[in-house]
Amino acid sequence: MSVGERPADMSTLRSESSTTPDAGAPPLPNPPPVASRREGAGIATIAIHGGEARAKPHDALTTPIACTATYTFSSTAALRDHFEGRVEREEYGRYGNPTVRTAERKLAALDGAEDCALFASGMAALTTTLLAMLKSGDHVVLTSDVYRRTRQFVGSFLARFGIESTLVPPGDVDACAAAIIPGKTKLLVTESPTNPYLRLADIGRLAELKNTTGARGLKLLVDSTFATPVNQRPIELGADLVVHSCTKYLGGHNDLLAGSVAGSAALVSALRDTRGVLGGVLDPHAAYLLLRGIKTLAVRVERQNRTALRVAQWLEAHPGIERVFYPGLPSHPDAALAGQLRGHGGVISFLVRGDLDTTSGFIDGCALATIAPSLGGVETLIEQPALMSHYELTTEERLQIGIHENLVRLSVGLEDAEDLIADFAQALEGVARGEAKQKVSNGTHRASEESLHVR
Ligand code: PLP
Repeated sequence: MSVGERPADMSTLRSESSTTPDAGAPPLPNPPPVASRREGAGIATIAIHGGEARAKPHDALTTPIACTATYTFSSTAALRDHFEGRVEREEYGRYGNPTVRTAERKLAALDGAEDCALFASGMAALTTTLLAMLKSGDHVVLTSDVYRRTRQFVGSFLARFGIESTLVPPGDVDACAAAIIPGKTKLLVTESPTNPYLRLADIGRLAELKNTTGARGLKLLVDSTFATPVNQRPIELGADLVVHSCTKYLGGHNDLLAGSVAGSAALVSALRDTRGVLGGVLDPHAAYLLLRGIKTLAVRVERQNRTALRVAQWLEAHPGIERVFYPGLPSHPDAALAGQLRGHGGVISFLVRGDLDTTSGFIDGCALATIAPSLGGVETLIEQPALMSHYELTTEERLQIGIHENLVRLSVGLEDAEDLIADFAQALEGVARGEAKQKVSNGTHRASEESLHVR
């Protein structure tokens, strides 16, 4: 048997909890969840102390990076103690790492879940989870505006393995209920808020569908990337699994990729076993950056909530803007559900008054907001979905899925709100004066109809 392999019947004995002591350091006990240190601790306290042992190797204040691919055993008896469940420890890097494990415990505490598993990216988290939970003949219901790669994975990849799916309109609980096939539908997948229109799902009502006739065994998975645990805790609302692309707000600095899935210990244990087979593990260096990023999560998100609301209100009042989509505005189609969120997030979408070129002119005229995909970091990022995430579609195909050519998605960072507003004001003035210049250089698309792949 080679390193990292195990006889199938022993795999259930493996515990992923990290108790591997550093050489010469006292053994690391699994720290109690922060709530047990102080019942009802706030989200900022959990972000800092949650999941972390109080006493760390070398008396360090921060959790060290355990940079190792494998773990040693002092004797074959020690190996047997591990495999036979008498000693909890790490064995091989694909099955666990203490730095990653600490980040998992912190995320579980933040999401109010029993456990959490981390993955190399948000997509690794989602694909591993879906593969772990579904088998041929099963059926999945997903809202039509979930992240397009999730849709692609379910619609194209899972379909190849005999797993069927139904797309339902965002926010339509009745359509979700109608799409459930008794005995076949195993998973309901939704996001909230969604991209790019920040639609909100009524998570509580979706969770109630699990109790309807014919829905036995149905699980609800909520991708809560846009909300973060600061603004929303789907497990408290009845979700079984909560997913985050930690690449976004949780990491918060646009310098790592990671994905998490939190839920009951039994579900997460099954995901961890599948992760051990598929191999989409998080590198301990990235786990360290994630731990560091999460410590400032609450202050970052609270500030982004406030700045985004101010920017959204300012944009809505500007004559150069046709329409703003932000769940904190009364004009948002799901404003009635906005109370589900503690804050409305840092992403705003809006339509510039004009066409594709006018919109590109506005974006190119911004000096602070930077053109890039992704969201949730300290830098304000801006993109025109027609030329970024949906570039490969024709104008007609984009319109069919509601992607207008004058749509802008803005991820508000941590700059001063006044500076961002001044930047957008000058960019809109530039457009109004017809002075906006198209940047045509490496990495910048010419915003003209010919350059779009119009088929
Ligand atoms: N879920 C949502 C809502 C996303 O927006 C993204 C990426 O943009 C993902 C999942 C995938 O995350 P990652 O890019 O970390 O793989």
